[in-house]
Formats: sequence, structure tokens, C-alpha cells
Amino acid sequence: MKICVLVKEVPDAAVQKRIDPATGRMDRSGEKNLNPYDTHAIEAAMQLKESGALPVEEIVAVSMGPESAVRALHKAVSLGADRSVHLSDAALAGSDVAATGYALAQTLKRENPDLVLLGQQSDDGECYTIGAVVADHLGMPSLTQVIKIDVEGGNTLRAERQAEYGYDTVQIPLPAVISVGDAINEPRYPSLKAIMGAKKKQLDTLSVADVSIDASKVGGDNSAAQWTGSKEPPKKAPGMIIEDEDTAQTVEQIVAWLDERKLI
Ligand SMILES: Cc1cc2nc3c(=O)[nH]c(=O)nc-3n(C[C@H](O)[C@H](O)[C@H](O)COP(=O)(O)OP(=O)(O)OC[C@H]3O[C@@H](n4cnc5c(N)ncnc54)[C@H](O)[C@@H]3O)c2cc1C
Repeated sequence: MKICVLVKEVPDAAVQKRIDPATGRMDRSGEKNLNPYDTHAIEAAMQLKESGALPVEEIVAVSMGPESAVRALHKAVSLGADRSVHLSDAALAGSDVAATGYALAQTLKRENPDLVLLGQQSDDGECYTIGAVVADHLGMPSLTQVIKIDVEGGNTLRAERQAEYGYDTVQIPLPAVISVGDAINEPRYPSLKAIMGAKKKQLDTLSVADVSIDASKVGGDNSAAQWTGSKEPPKKAPGMIIEDEDTAQTVEQIVAWLDERKLI
């Protein structure tokens, strides 16, 4: 069996995210990293392989992104993927969610996976939607927010989904597309040997033509969603700091502050 894990390169968590007003796209010029949510998807694939619950022969990391996304793919390989696929083409720049999902699905078709795993969200776009779009194009069932995967028989998974009201238990036949929640596992750290060896593993770089992507359906100009503007969230009023010189007086001050705002 083959598991494909979708991984994305995102701005590092420490970088202040901003839209570049000149292009209407996210400014990705700073430090970048593998989307932290995707490390849970790689770990879930590794646990399915290592436990022997599924006869997994190969884990393939797949990413769509500019040249720099290779680093995220190397990280994915250092965490356990056997090889990686990089869809990179200028024609894809500015693609919205629908176009990105279509392009990723075309790339996945070439791999013919039994299971596609994703993170619950990207740390930059935070759309939470790529899994469903990809599944639709592949004609596979889709599950989101999965925090437990058990194998039932050879070709069926029993998954637990985290929902607002509790947990859903869902049976799903393979092939399927599953976005995992970050509560599913604790991702491992890569070993030094794995980090050093990652660059030597097979990496296929593909263009839109290589995976039969219809170029009129991808890229900024062909995307239905267009950026029209953004604004900063309203600034919060500064908090009040009370120096505790006399505790009785401090308590009085806190109670008065809460009372004034009708919080008690
Ligand atoms: C008008 C517009 C223009 C845009 N222009 C650009 C652009 O120029 N460059 C750009 O990078 N983004 C661009 N985006 C954002 C891009 O469309 C989204 O980042 C992308 O569709 C995925 O959405 P998300 O990141 O919110 O994914 P989510 O749905 O939040 O991600 C869920 C999971 O999907 C997987 N995933 C998401 N994206 C990828 C990917 N690229 N490769 C592999 N796996 C992935 C990961 O496993 C991730 O954990 C643009 C969006 C809009 C609306």
C-alpha cells in the first residue's frame, strides 16, 4: 500500500505574517518551515506503517510550492517519508484554494495512493479545506479532524473525529483522504542521521504538464477568489497593571475594576 502525505512550506511561526499589498499575496520572503500541522500527518503515516496495521510499502511526501519548498520536503523525509514529489511551476503562483486542491489532486493521481493524509490546517492560509477539495477531485471519501485511526480488516479504517459536541466514530473504506487533528499524536524528532540522509532520497520535481494540469484552471488570473484588500484587526486597549503594595487595597482595586465592567 502507498500513503501520500501532503505537506506545505509556510512562514516560520516567529515571522509576522502579512499580505504584500503590491501582489495581494502573502509575503513569504522571511524564514520558512514545514507546516507544523503536517508533522502530525507524517507521524500518523509512520505509525500505520510501523505497527504493521496496514501493509504500507511506501510513504510519499507531496508538496506544491516554489523552489524553496524542497526544504519542507527534506524535513518530511527526515521524519520518515521514503521519497518526495514537488509540484513546482510558475503557472501555479497565486492559485486559490480550489485551484490548489485541483493541482494537488492531479499530482496525487500519478501516485495512485491507497490513503492520503494531510494536516488539519496550514499555518499561513488556515483554510482547513484542501483535504475536501482534493478528495472531491479524486472521487474518494474525505474525513477531517481525525484524532484516532484504527484498521478494520484489510481495507477499512475506523476513525475518531473531534467535533464541537464530542467525538464521531466513522468507518471509511480505502482509498480515502484524511486530515488529521493535532491531538492525534506527538510527532517524533528527526535523528541526525535522518536529517543528513534526507537530501539523498528520491525527489521528483514536476511541472503542470507532467501531471496533466489544465493551465487555464490554475494561477492567480484563473482563480475564482481574488484578494481585494486587508486591514489590521482593531488594536486592543492596554490592560491595567496594579502594583501589589497593600494586598487589601489591591483586592479592592481589582473588585472595583471588575464591578465597573459589570463582570461580577
Ligand atoms: C487569491 C489568492 C491567492 C493566493 N496566492 C497564493 C500564492 O501565490 N502562493 C501560495 O502559496 N498560496 C497562495 N494562496 C493561498 C493558497 O490558495 C492556499 O494556501 C492553499 O489553497 C491551501 O490553503 P491553506 O494553506 O489554507 O490549506 P489548509 O486547507 O488550511 O491546509 C490543510 C492541509 O492541506 C495541505 N496543503 C495545503 N496546501 C498545500 C500545498 N501547497 N502543498 C501540499 N499540501 C498542502 C497540508 O497538509 C495542510 O496541512 C492564495 C489564496 C488566494 C485566495
